[in-house]
Amino acid sequence: MSPVPHPPQPSSLPPSSAPTEPEPQPQQIPQHYNRPHAKPARKPILRLELRDLSSPGTQSFLRLLHASTALQEAVNTVLHCLYAHRPAHCIPPTRSVTLILRSMGGVAYTTGLDIDDDHKEIHFSTDYIESIPEGKLKEEMRGVIVHEMVHCWQWNALGTAPGGLIEGIADWVRLKAGLGPPHWRRHADGNWDSGYERTGYFLEWLEGKYGEDVVRRINEELQHCRYEEEDFWSKCCGKHVKSLWEEYRESLGGGKDGNDTDGPAE
Ligand SMILES: [Zn+2]
Repeated sequence: MSPVPHPPQPSSLPPSSAPTEPEPQPQQIPQHYNRPHAKPARKPILRLELRDLSSPGTQSFLRLLHASTALQEAVNTVLHCLYAHRPAHCIPPTRSVTLILRSMGGVAYTTGLDIDDDHKEIHFSTDYIESIPEGKLKEEMRGVIVHEMVHCWQWNALGTAPGGLIEGIADWVRLKAGLGPPHWRRHADGNWDSGYERTGYFLEWLEGKYGEDVVRRINEELQHCRYEEEDFWSKCCGKHVKSLWEEYRESLGGGKDGNDTDGPAE
């Protein structure tokens, strides 16, 4: 059984493409992420399930990605970013991750099996894959897989963490992996827990201020205790998160959208 009675909630990812973006440059996950200084107690089984081999999305996936490499790299990236130099008992006891490619609305979501939450499923939409321009498809699929893989390995304060923080941590790892889509921007509007890249960039800024371990410490704090906003942030950063968000907004040039030119990704 998992020590987490409430698994991360299934989360759907907003589409990541915008029609007027420049072509992305090929990006590499930093090499050292593939030698993570973090090992789970048990090496997870990685599986792939293809619901319809005839769908163009499935075919593009198979053509552009080596599934076993892509999944293992995503696991390594997540373990490096969230658990480097942490002992195995700090890492959730995820035993398997199954990537399921199927036709569905939305982009992707992650869920645990009802019968045993240590077994995770990442559902990835073949319709979405089909909708992405060829030039950016490979990086986009890798980015989505990394984002969803975070949900397979992150803590969630016994189910009480704000959804925006959970999503922000997932996109922060995606940023660290160099797999942020080209249209992502730092936003100074909204709230710190608006989620996705808004919160992801905020966490990146916190790293600059409080050291590169800060997101690891945030995730660690989410392991055992229920989320109480004031206590939580004063433990992690010594300040209320609303003050931190204000400082972040000021660093982007005040209350206006810093260098934001696109709308929100949702
Ligand atoms: Zn998510």
